[in-house]
Amino acid sequence: MASDRFNPLQGMSDISFPEVAAWQHLESASRQVLHRYGFQEVRTPLLERQDVFIRSLGETTDVVQKEMYTLEDRGGRRLALRPEGTAGVIRHVAGLGQDGANARLYYMGPMFRAERPQAGRKRQFHQVGVEAIGDPDPVRDAEVIALQVEVLREAGLKDVEVSLNTRGTAEDQRNVQSGLREALEPFRADLPEESRNRMDGNILRVVDAKDEASQAVLEQIPPVTTWMSTESLEYLDEVGGRLEDLKIPFSLKPRLVRGLDYYEHTIWEISHASLGAQDALAGGGRYAISMGNRTIRGVGFALGMERTLMALAAEGQAVKPSGPDLFLASLGEAAHRENLKFMQALRGQGVHVRMDLHLRNMKKQMNEANRLDASWVGIRGDAELEQGVLQLKNMDTGDQTAVPVNDVIHHLLSTS
Ligand code: AMP
Repeated sequence: MASDRFNPLQGMSDISFPEVAAWQHLESASRQVLHRYGFQEVRTPLLERQDVFIRSLGETTDVVQKEMYTLEDRGGRRLALRPEGTAGVIRHVAGLGQDGANARLYYMGPMFRAERPQAGRKRQFHQVGVEAIGDPDPVRDAEVIALQVEVLREAGLKDVEVSLNTRGTAEDQRNVQSGLREALEPFRADLPEESRNRMDGNILRVVDAKDEASQAVLEQIPPVTTWMSTESLEYLDEVGGRLEDLKIPFSLKPRLVRGLDYYEHTIWEISHASLGAQDALAGGGRYAISMGNRTIRGVGFALGMERTLMALAAEGQAVKPSGPDLFLASLGEAAHRENLKFMQALRGQGVHVRMDLHLRNMKKQMNEANRLDASWVGIRGDAELEQGVLQLKNMDTGDQTAVPVNDVIHHLLSTS
């Protein structure tokens, strides 16, 4: 089909005017909050060696097994488009050596997963994420959760829900696996094939299964925290206590596991009721990731920008792009010339100004001002030029007054 030539690939979108205004709003709200929390931006490449992801996310995870866009370059190197942000950032931090010991980094940008596209699930999607490097410390975990909630609040979202759980330590995870195996074995026949395969591959992933049959089985077995040490449960308690101090509401969800292998201790998800099946806006957790001969520990999150924008729209918080502060309309050549100069002077002072560059009749100019959603129109003809004024029309109220040219900025500011 001819029109397909102009469409991006399935599951990917061009983001353009007017919806790009909502993206810019979310990006700037995020940056403001990240700055307040003392995080610095890092921009890692979109393309990495495959092993950067395989080693950190885990060989048996869905992302690695089914969802990575992989390719071989001309030198036969096996590369992948990043399916998430943490692995690349940790590769970067590992390269910093001791300087990276307490890095507080954030990223913002596209991720790629070859998933079946549906509402809230794309093949190119965007995340804002952070990584706070450092050894396990419940206070740091709570700070990062608070930061994530604050980003969503700053963007304008009201009804977010934080679900919290723990993955325990590496040792706990061995106990969890054997406990789970014993508990699930009697139900093997009731589980769908995918969950049965997970039982043999990565049993924790059964707990992550979303299908009804697996869910019904999961209802009948103890939560994974049953097999964890008191030390890990106390750690989780401590995170919860700090969140209470910071007045961040949360619920403990003993069945929450999250899909990647690198987690230890705290894990969480933030959801929004409006999103239906794909209700997770954001996820995060504490991790230990091996890179070369080093193990990097830290805590981080990734927030899905598409889903956050969907949730904002559902709450009626859709951001509208703002039109020009002023549209200059001209009656005649002389006024048109003056208006061009005036436009440049006003722009130099930070005002968003537009005009009709090819002098058309007044009706067309006013139509253009309306189309652009200008707040004010400044009209000038020969008479106004002579008097040194502009007829300033408020496009909301329709009121019009003659204002001396030198007072225009003051007038826009004082009445806007
Ligand atoms: P994850 O890294 O899978 O925990 O994802 C973190 C967040 O990114 C999710 O909560 C979603 O908001 C978002 N996300 C993940 N995968 C997709 C996708 N395929 N399309 C859109 N958003 C996604």
